[in-house]
Amino acid sequence: MPRRKLVAGNWKMNTTRAEAVALAQGVAAGVGASPKCDVAVIPPFVWLDPVAAALKGTAVQLGAQDVYTEPKGAFTGEISPAMLLEVGCQYALVGHSERRHVIGETDAATNHKVHAALEAGLHVILCIGETLAERERNLQERVFQRQVYAACAGLTDEQFGRLTLAYEPVWAIGTGKVATPELAQEAHKNIRARMALLYGDNIAGALPILYGGSLTGDSAPGLFAQPDIDGGLVGGASLKADSFLKIVAAAG
Ligand code: PEP
Repeated sequence: MPRRKLVAGNWKMNTTRAEAVALAQGVAAGVGASPKCDVAVIPPFVWLDPVAAALKGTAVQLGAQDVYTEPKGAFTGEISPAMLLEVGCQYALVGHSERRHVIGETDAATNHKVHAALEAGLHVILCIGETLAERERNLQERVFQRQVYAACAGLTDEQFGRLTLAYEPVWAIGTGKVATPELAQEAHKNIRARMALLYGDNIAGALPILYGGSLTGDSAPGLFAQPDIDGGLVGGASLKADSFLKIVAAAG
């Protein structure tokens, strides 16, 4: 079965409440009732509720930028998978490079988060990717292996069906340095081959792998034309409806 593309906008720690609602409304209006790909927006936690209300009855789905491992309890500052479901999220982002490299999240923590989110019924977008120093030492394939092996350990076949990977070379995130279609395709093909070795051809063949890293309306068509690139995770260009919609149009 062909893999359906997904374009997801990670708003990071941006937008006021009013901007978030207006952006969600603009994306929903531009996407229409039956888009050719899946579309999701991922606002800050505090705007999930008003954005969910703005998206009600539209084709745009909702995601959270992170999730905690426990269902409830004394975990000050954290948000559980059940809370995300109750507010209307379908997706949780796990292991974003800013969480790994700025906040210090470990591979083991990403594994616990992936499990908690999938067990609760969410879809997970798991981010992986090498730093510039790792690419300069040609270590990217080892990094993919380590990150996917650690994060996916113990998942069932059914849970793999709700997992999406996002390949985000850290040197391309927010830097304006987008990977070329050829380089990104090589990385995606490699990641899929590694998933096939670890978890079998069926899981690897069905797994959507998004590209992320300075994606724009100009670079998206070339990247999305590659056989192993199944859409995009978009940061900066998702903060304006028109630039995000250009990327969505490239996935149609
Ligand atoms: C991201 O952080 O997920 C991302 C891809 O950011 P940007 O598009 O701004 O590089």
